[in-house]
Amino acid sequence: MKLLVIGTGGREHALVWKLAQSPHAMQMWCAPGNAGIAEERLAKNGALVECVNINAEDLPKLLAFALEKKADLTVVGPDNPLALGIVDLFQANGLRVWGPNKRAAQFEASKAFAQDFMERHGIPTARAKVFPEPNAAKRFALELDGECVVKADGLALGKGVLISGTVQQAEEAIDEILVQKTFGPAGLRIVIQEFLEGTEISLHALCDGKVAKLFPTSQDHKRALDNDEGLNTGGMGTYSPTPFLTEAELQQVGRAILDPWLKGCAEEGIDYRGILYPGVMLTKSGPKVLEFNARFGDPETQVYLTRLENDLVEILDASVNGTLAGHELKWKKDAAVCVVMASGGYPGNYGKGKIISGLTDANALPNTKVFHAGTARSGNDIVTNGGRVLGVTAWANGLISARDAAYVAAHKIKFDGAHFRRDIAAKALRWTAQTNPCT
Ligand code: AMP
Repeated sequence: MKLLVIGTGGREHALVWKLAQSPHAMQMWCAPGNAGIAEERLAKNGALVECVNINAEDLPKLLAFALEKKADLTVVGPDNPLALGIVDLFQANGLRVWGPNKRAAQFEASKAFAQDFMERHGIPTARAKVFPEPNAAKRFALELDGECVVKADGLALGKGVLISGTVQQAEEAIDEILVQKTFGPAGLRIVIQEFLEGTEISLHALCDGKVAKLFPTSQDHKRALDNDEGLNTGGMGTYSPTPFLTEAELQQVGRAILDPWLKGCAEEGIDYRGILYPGVMLTKSGPKVLEFNARFGDPETQVYLTRLENDLVEILDASVNGTLAGHELKWKKDAAVCVVMASGGYPGNYGKGKIISGLTDANALPNTKVFHAGTARSGNDIVTNGGRVLGVTAWANGLISARDAAYVAAHKIKFDGAHFRRDIAAKALRWTAQTNPCT
């Protein structure tokens, strides 16, 4: 099969790496890719993956490329091309493409759509309302004593979620989005949710329009600094599985969310093929969905795909074909940990072009893979080219060993200004120590 992967980050490197292991992969391109992706080789024939300089949102050029190369399957990584309708466009031109179509991608592209859908179909979520204007929004925020989360409806580069603890903060957040229009058209409407306390986890399910196959749990680390301090980021690290749910509890939580979601999609004629990634808060009164994403999480993908035993080409193909029911997802017993190494200054302003050393040594460690996110080649060097630079991932029997292995690898890698959190998976280890003090 000839495969085209769309996107440029750590998620896409993980997708390319795993797809490249499949005996079905005969040729692969990635648009636009990064320096690490350009070093991947296909297991079947040793061919290098070719990076193509086309932006992930340049739909006409991507289409022309896929048609010219006769790509058998295009795999879409990021949310923007999905929200722009890349799947509909490719399908209309006779191409096979993996990911939800534009209507289905609304679960991520419109928080108002997702919230209304959850309420229509009894999916457990926060108490919430959707508002197009500030006065009624402020009255609702007052009802919640200001302890709420104000969210811009549309895609806002992960920045449109404002957490407030007082009525004044809530009013400011409402004005920022609806009056000052800081997020532009993404903020034409807002969703206000009650603030939920609990443990946040990521769920993923692979869907084929009829069934949804649940992945193990994982947990992201959104804040830039240790102990969940500092600014919000795209994600500074992940691990899988989490100890917060037993396998039976996970299945229960998954069904409580996915069964009404699948039924709702069927009733409303939404044909969802791709990954559904609900962000879930485990609260004292049960699990509640905070939001839906319509693609793989980044860096969740890095830990999932190092644990996945199935051939990724086969299961994505089944997701497109509507034949997932015949596939059982299989996972290594190993735990996996991904530590994100970021540029100095990220998530604020940061420089680019810093030379990265130690990559070969880190990749030579057993059960370790350094996924590239924001990297580029400059002559013989690999240099930084983004905020999140690398996702240093390791897997081992047990979370402590996987965590230690990921940090051993991260310490081998150097670039000017590099920073990373030192406490990835610490919450899980604390939780386990408190719950099972003898283990
Ligand atoms: P979202 O993009 O909607 O997942 O929001 C981004 C982050 O804000 C989430 O990962 C949570 O950490 C936090 N968050 C969102 N909604 C809520 C809520 N209702 N209660 C508490 N925290 C929330």
